[in-house]
Amino acid sequence: MLGQVTGPRVLLKHLREAMAEPLGPQERLNRIVQQIAGAMAADVCSVYVRRSDDALELFATHGLNADAVHISQLKVGQGLVGTIAAAGRTLNLREAQAHPAFAYLPETGEDEYHSFLGVPMKRAGRPLGVLTVQTRETKDFEQEEVEAVETAAMVLSDLIASGGLEGLSQKGTGLDQSRPISVQGSRLSSGIAIGKVVLHEPRVVVTQIFNDDEEAELDRLSVALQNMRASVDAMLEDGPLAGDGDHMEVLESYRMFAHDRGWVQRMEAAIRDGLTAEAAVDKISQENRTRLMRASDAYMRERLNDFDDLARRLMNQLMGAPSDLVQGEKDRKVVVVARSMGAAELLDYSSEKLSGLVLEEGTATSHVVIVARALGIAVVGNVDGLVSRAETGDDIILDAELGSVHLRPVEEVRDSYIERLQFRAKREARFDALRRKDSVTRDGVKIDLLLNAGLTMDLPQLESTGAAGIGLFRTELQFMIASTLPRHEAQAHFYKSVLDAANGKPVTFRTLDIGGDKVLPYLRTVKEDNPAMGWRAIRLSVDRPALLRMQIRALLKAAAGRELRVKVPMVTMVTEIDQVRVLLDREIATRKRFGDTLPTKILLGSMIEVPSLLWQLDELMEKVDFVSVGSNDLFQFMAASDRTNAYLANRFNPLSRPFLRALREVARAAERNNTPLHLCGELAGDPLSALALLGIGYRAISMPPASIGPVKEMVRSIELSGVKTLVNDMVDDKIGGQTMFEVLTDYADQHGVPLSI
Ligand code: PEP
Ligand code: MG
Repeated sequence: MLGQVTGPRVLLKHLREAMAEPLGPQERLNRIVQQIAGAMAADVCSVYVRRSDDALELFATHGLNADAVHISQLKVGQGLVGTIAAAGRTLNLREAQAHPAFAYLPETGEDEYHSFLGVPMKRAGRPLGVLTVQTRETKDFEQEEVEAVETAAMVLSDLIASGGLEGLSQKGTGLDQSRPISVQGSRLSSGIAIGKVVLHEPRVVVTQIFNDDEEAELDRLSVALQNMRASVDAMLEDGPLAGDGDHMEVLESYRMFAHDRGWVQRMEAAIRDGLTAEAAVDKISQENRTRLMRASDAYMRERLNDFDDLARRLMNQLMGAPSDLVQGEKDRKVVVVARSMGAAELLDYSSEKLSGLVLEEGTATSHVVIVARALGIAVVGNVDGLVSRAETGDDIILDAELGSVHLRPVEEVRDSYIERLQFRAKREARFDALRRKDSVTRDGVKIDLLLNAGLTMDLPQLESTGAAGIGLFRTELQFMIASTLPRHEAQAHFYKSVLDAANGKPVTFRTLDIGGDKVLPYLRTVKEDNPAMGWRAIRLSVDRPALLRMQIRALLKAAAGRELRVKVPMVTMVTEIDQVRVLLDREIATRKRFGDTLPTKILLGSMIEVPSLLWQLDELMEKVDFVSVGSNDLFQFMAASDRTNAYLANRFNPLSRPFLRALREVARAAERNNTPLHLCGELAGDPLSALALLGIGYRAISMPPASIGPVKEMVRSIELSGVKTLVNDMVDDKIGGQTMFEVLTDYADQHGVPLSI
């Protein structure tokens, strides 16, 4: 029961009074807990605040032992309060002590209480503390009561974030920001950025939380929505990325969300509960963020991200934020730090000033990363907790080559990065000069350096790197960024644009490698315990051939009058190639019947990614026109070592004898069968590993664009005959006591071979 008069409005009224009074921070907090307890007819109301050392300290209480204030504490994850902070979710319990996480703090005297309601206080999705309400009586808190306490938690979050509680605790609140911090994340888009932080979610403090005139606030919301929609339209039509490209599909679906009725209705309801328009936007966006943190489905997360993004735009409309978000940083480069971000929002930042992006969340295929790559912005992801520790204006260095972020770096770190940037600029100039030079060893052996690609924005790199062609075109990326299945026409159009951009250089398309963990939101698949070894790639394609047939048809059309190269992923048995061959021949026959122009030559290849193929090499090579080793998957399956598991990342060495022996067997079989061979996968892009590959017989390797220059520099500086002897002696165990890495590093030192990436 919520006091005599029900509804959040009563509580809001009391809070408004407590906030307006001229009180010191501790008195204000005491008053607030007292007011909440009164309005809720509860026996206890307490506030726990997260300190800079991550403990949750009791900052104020009505009902518990007052001596426990600033004494009692729990770790994040410990007890009910710690569980709420860790999960970022409300706990509504009829009997607190029956919950497995309940931890009894004797100094608080809380054993007399039964029912418990705890709500997280958050900023930018990070826990700032927990607000709790307890009763002696055993009862269920109703939805309306939960909402009232959640609104109160929002008010308290603003108070903490605006520094309103500083000085109350010896350890300071969790927003203490002065120390240098270095954290490790994942590289999502290469580059190094040195600059000032701009927090993507500037901590807009909603100063006016309660409305005086409901209708006026509803009008304000409606006008702001209209303006926001118009600004989104303008951005998509005239912004720096307007025009064609994969990113446009991402941005178009975003535009649809600006008109979502459910979202608008929830904000309107919050205004009717007594909030101002901006407080309503904030409240609903916090609820969305909580859902976002819980969503495991990548598609759902992207959608919720879009709402988060739109909410910030709406807030800017209501609160009159500057349109150029990096305006304050006149001549400095900026690095935007965000928990997560919708793709469109990146475009709000002036692209000349923006040099880096740090995402607490985000993967290589998340939409904002795809757009960031198109803009050439360095991105590091998976950096936990940075948003709550960084402040706009802090110095920051983002190293998207090593995947590290240095916040408020000490001078030595900063100087060394400035030097590194200067060195890199010289190196880039050197690689640029190499662009038109042949990729040939000093003893005259030609090595084909090919690109790994998958999106339109990768294509200009063919020209800028001087690569010999595309060795791996990951066709599934187009499918993964689209919100609906790309139809035949769209696929054909896309593949044609790839071939046009290649301008006669060979392109090897890989048929769809989907299923398992590469889920297409619009395609129904099954949930698997072991997706990497599951119903994916060619396995799925032969069972559901319509998709593969449509893709083959699109490829045949796109390559009309030109050469078409297609390779098949995750082949395990040679018979799978027979099945694809049947499909391909059938499509060719149909095209002929229709009188369509066909490709001048069609080459069908198999990827070698599953170890079973190592014992079918001759049979396989009889049936295909070329083979392509996918070293990432082949290694993961040979070493039984999940390629996405960070704990296993450096445990086994792909340059160890067993793996190199297997790769050498493939090269020998290719030579024996006169079958063209290339290798794609991370190994090819690292100059030292590439050196080992050349030693065991590989003459064509495919890699990410940034590797072409460094690998070409290595190729042009070696005598292959000497490398062959050295590497094969190592693989045959004729050299003991050293690793391949050590042997090749010594060789490079002695012969002046550059191996840095
Ligand atoms: C590989 O497995 O080495 C490969 C190139 O394919 P992907 O990385 O796309 O799985
Ligand atoms: Mg693979």
